Amino acid sequence: MNSNYAKDLINFIDASPSQFHATKEAEERLLKNNFVKLNKGDKWNLEKGGKYFITNNSSSLVAFEIGSGDITQEGFRLIGSHTDSPTFRVKPNPDIIVENSYVKLNTEMYGGALVSTWFDRPLSIAGRVSLRTDDPLKPEERLVNVDKDLLIIPSLCIHMNREANSNSSFNNQIHLLPVLTTVNEELEKDNMLIKIMAKELGVDYKDILDFEVYLYVRQKGSIIGLNDEFVSVGKLDNLAMVHASLTGLIESTPSVATKVIIANDNEEVGSMTKQGANSPMLKNLLERIILGLGLTREDFHRTISNSFIISADMAHSIHPNYLEKADPTNRPVVNKGPVIKISASCSYTSDGVSSAIYRAVCEKAGVPYQTFVNRSDLRGGSTIGPITSQQLDINSVDIGNPVLGMHSARELCGVQDHYYMIESFKTYFSYK
Ligand SMILES: [Zn+2]
Repeated sequence: MNSNYAKDLINFIDASPSQFHATKEAEERLLKNNFVKLNKGDKWNLEKGGKYFITNNSSSLVAFEIGSGDITQEGFRLIGSHTDSPTFRVKPNPDIIVENSYVKLNTEMYGGALVSTWFDRPLSIAGRVSLRTDDPLKPEERLVNVDKDLLIIPSLCIHMNREANSNSSFNNQIHLLPVLTTVNEELEKDNMLIKIMAKELGVDYKDILDFEVYLYVRQKGSIIGLNDEFVSVGKLDNLAMVHASLTGLIESTPSVATKVIIANDNEEVGSMTKQGANSPMLKNLLERIILGLGLTREDFHRTISNSFIISADMAHSIHPNYLEKADPTNRPVVNKGPVIKISASCSYTSDGVSSAIYRAVCEKAGVPYQTFVNRSDLRGGSTIGPITSQQLDINSVDIGNPVLGMHSARELCGVQDHYYMIESFKTYFSYK
């Protein structure tokens, strides 16, 4: 079993307590590997063989390497993923004092978290704040991560809820608010969280104009199992695919085709933002690559017609304790390879051609693959693939690695699968 990529994945996720930090970590890795950061406001002059990237909203990213071939013929070879994961966002005016002593934070759920998994774990907050400057249109944006065990959402004890193990339900506004501290002094009670962030950043709390911060789980990721075959960590959906596509791009050898990775934000809340998959961000960027090479708008459309997208988002393994939840003939398991997702309702983009292309890539890479289809009486989820297809008419396949406990605060995937996925991406990017 090759565990180097899985260990690096854990480092990547541990460095990414929010989508802003994930984007920053990806940016640092790209800079270290000679990718040049472009500014969207500049005029671009791009060169064949050049490696570049942009960030959008500090929470999404597109990185690309221009191929050596005729781009209109070789097309873009794309891999898409997303930087965000289910969590809780801290609301404005977050401090709530109860019984004149406990201070808890007002939050709202971001995405479809499996809430029972968030109880009784050391948590903290990370995200970004905007600081006052002389120019009201240009606040200073800073990332913030309070790097300590700061918060916890305590369970209700079983003595006060005898049905806790058989019949639990949670009200997001009442039962899921994390406890920050206890207070005695009247003085301590104002703007507690904002003052904590200000101290962390070394600024006056009055200069924090606004913030966008989320809860995150403090426990570091680990490799577990008798043979060290599992990765146990939060945010595998979908930082595992951000990491796999980034590593595939960085480690693949130069190709005739132009390699592009895109990591969108806001997949977990419907992708309807400027940095989400349902925005013109990717389309505009691809057009600017063509124009930056001195080519025309028609050349852009010619390039699009020869392009391909792998939409990479984690998939479901059959669950060893819930075998009846899986389709009778398509039964992916952890460490048996990447999963191609197929749906008659087109909630995944894979079709008879695009699936065949990914199968052939896996075969070339020496990587096994599996297929996932929902049980016909279960609705299942969707992903960025079909949303990207609303913006770009590029042939696309939806894939991902099998995971257990998707949207838990702590998910489980396979060490070997992560290796397989990166190998398949390297082959996809380097072929020809
Ligand atoms: Zn996802």
